[in-house]
Amino acid sequence: MRRIMRKVLLIAAVFCLSLMSAFPAFAVGAVTEIITDTDFVNSGPGAQQIPEEEPETAQEVSLGMFTVTGYCGCDRCSSGNNLTYSGTVPAPNHTISADLTHYPIGTKLRIGDIIYTVEDKGSSVKGNVVDIFYATHEEALAKGTYTAEVFLVQE
Ligand SMILES: [Zn+2]
Repeated sequence: MRRIMRKVLLIAAVFCLSLMSAFPAFAVGAVTEIITDTDFVNSGPGAQQIPEEEPETAQEVSLGMFTVTGYCGCDRCSSGNNLTYSGTVPAPNHTISADLTHYPIGTKLRIGDIIYTVEDKGSSVKGNVVDIFYATHEEALAKGTYTAEVFLVQE
């Protein structure tokens, strides 16, 4: 019984080999079918998140939760300094003060929908504390102090 099975398998194998060598298009067709199957798996519902979200998340790293405070260019907030520590004119939705030992000048930090650039420092801005620049003292007070996740944006 076994001998017969082996013989049948051998004949089948020889038949396949001879078919592939006799009709190369058959072999190419078989290979193409395998590639198509792989493509189908990669584009399946379970794999959809990989090509769409990988480029974005690869450029951002969560730095964890920070205490986010606000300041402006007034005497109370900035001691009469019109420029930031790095020499730039501070701008709302752009300028942020951070602990320069961890996040040097020019570091891009995203909080919520806004990407800020580290341009300033402050005596109370240490470790997981950032200070966002606002146009007016009222706005800085109104936004207040809160806790938020901060993301390092890598370019
Ligand atoms: Zn102020």
